Amino acid sequence: MICNYIEEIDHLWQRQLAEWDAVIKNYGLLSHVTTRVVELGDSSIVLQHNPERLWSAIASLDKASLEAKPCFLCNENQPTKQETVVWNDLYKIQINPYPIFSRHLTISALEHLPQRIDGRIADMMRLAKDLPDYVVFYNGPRCGASAPGHMHFQAGSIDELPICDELFTANTALFDANNQGIFGIITDLGRPVFYIETLNINLGEQWFNSLLDVLPMKNGHDEPMVNILCWHKSGAWCIAVFPRRKHRPACYGSGEDQFVLSPASAEMGGLWAIAREEDYNNLTLHDITLIYMDVCLSPQDIEDVSTKLRQYYYSKR
Ligand SMILES: [Zn+2]
Repeated sequence: MICNYIEEIDHLWQRQLAEWDAVIKNYGLLSHVTTRVVELGDSSIVLQHNPERLWSAIASLDKASLEAKPCFLCNENQPTKQETVVWNDLYKIQINPYPIFSRHLTISALEHLPQRIDGRIADMMRLAKDLPDYVVFYNGPRCGASAPGHMHFQAGSIDELPICDELFTANTALFDANNQGIFGIITDLGRPVFYIETLNINLGEQWFNSLLDVLPMKNGHDEPMVNILCWHKSGAWCIAVFPRRKHRPACYGSGEDQFVLSPASAEMGGLWAIAREEDYNNLTLHDITLIYMDVCLSPQDIEDVSTKLRQYYYSKR
């Protein structure tokens, strides 16, 4: 049986927006948030003043704090009003009750398994194809995942994430290309991004895995630090990978000249959800530039990874 997930998820929205008080309240608040746009070279950065996201910006991410809390993605700890659309017997698709997109989904594994992208990029691509109005995203366990103990993606309205349009026309230095797609690096959008665009899901998976293999990994980590976006447009899959060197920037804090900001996939894509009003008012283009430089992989590391990929694909020709 072929499931029509678009229709099922439309119905999920209709029911939850009518019946679940937290969803009614928080999506109502989101529809009134103020935004402003900052131009970073050829990239637009949308700043969104979203006070409801403060819990996420200040969440304790150390192991002890995380283990002390019940997992909010496991069925037994979820609100009784939270409904589910099961996707391919692997993931449950649910409404995210703390949105930054006007349509914001949480897509979590049916089992309580750790947050890892290894072996799951094809799932992400198939989800993106089944959710054509959305961009699916993955925050690594140390790059913004609020439940690193429970594997999950999220998805948000694709027309609200600026980079999804910008990458199609960006200047891409290629590692590999054929009549099925392109794989390269884009360095002129203020944050380096490895970009895959392909008609072939197997090729997309191979290219992604070759990248994951050569990204630097820190001691004690289980995977390279990454944020990943994936969407499906005009028959092609698009994957944007942002390698990270840290989660919170050096300017993180509540003091003077500091910001309560914990950038993750949405921020890498150009949508910054900012909880505190003073941060929303004070953040400048200069601050955004410095934060991207601080939390993304260094130019030298990007060059090292690019060299390895060029050598690998050159040797295969
Ligand atoms: Zn869980």
